[in-house]
Amino acid sequence: MENKTLHGRTALITGSTSGIGLGMARALAGAGANIILNGLGDPGEMAALAAGIAREHGVEVIYDPANMLRADEISTMIRRAGEKFGVIDIVVNNAGIQHVSAIEDFPDDKWQAIIAINLVSNFHTIKAALPMMKQQRWGRIINLASAHGLVASPYKSAYVAAKHGVLGLTKTVALETAELGITCNAICPGYVHTPLVEGQIADQMKAHNMSRDQVINDIFLVAQPSKRFVEVEELGQIALFLCSPAACSINGIALPVEGGWTAK
Ligand code: NAD
Repeated sequence: MENKTLHGRTALITGSTSGIGLGMARALAGAGANIILNGLGDPGEMAALAAGIAREHGVEVIYDPANMLRADEISTMIRRAGEKFGVIDIVVNNAGIQHVSAIEDFPDDKWQAIIAINLVSNFHTIKAALPMMKQQRWGRIINLASAHGLVASPYKSAYVAAKHGVLGLTKTVALETAELGITCNAICPGYVHTPLVEGQIADQMKAHNMSRDQVINDIFLVAQPSKRFVEVEELGQIALFLCSPAACSINGIALPVEGGWTAK
């Protein structure tokens, strides 16, 4: 039987129409939380996705298409969700994009979009949701950083800069809210097999004329001592732990979930 420890709570997960965010939404719904799904996608398909999760777990799920590039759409999403559910108890800042290129060729618009979606949107969701959390003296903020928030790789300048920034924001929010029953932590996954990584695998196969297995083993999992991808479901369980009473004193951390990558 499912453990409904989050019954009556409401969780917003940005970028939850795919990959890690969708896995987090399913895990939090499984624990009884009402869910605000967000991300890019066909509105009809997203409504069906929301209805399916709601049916499966007996919770309310709504879809909001707010674009993480737009501060106004983020604050409207949070205001609407607050009106519907009374409060947003849990915010998972997960929406993210990637672009891989040498810095001198890095397109300016890609740099700006990566910083905006992967870092600045976190500031806007937290800013808009914190007053509700402060009022009830309970809140959980989980930011999806990356192993690339702790260490760099070449050709990922914008992503590495954004993810290092997410860790700074995480620590600052943790200190500003530490006495108020609110925690703010970052999860730093290594490679997780999601559509974001699938796109990179396809690019590398083309760029190096390599097979899929060669790209996975010789390029991606080279950095990851466990030699396996992190699973979306593992991250969902970690998010649940960070929302649990046992984690109430865990605040401001960057939790590596990368098979030992950053231990080297
Ligand atoms: P994904 O591509 O499967 O999902 C990204 C989500 O973000 C999608 O729902 C997409 O619609 C949404 N999104 C993109 N642009 C958006 C925008 N402008 N507005 C609203 N939503 C938008 O990616 P993923 O692999 O699940 O990554 C999720 C998060 O985890 C990202 O922050 C990523 O950096 C981080 N991460 C991923 C990995 C990995 O190996 N996959 C590793 C470390 C960290």
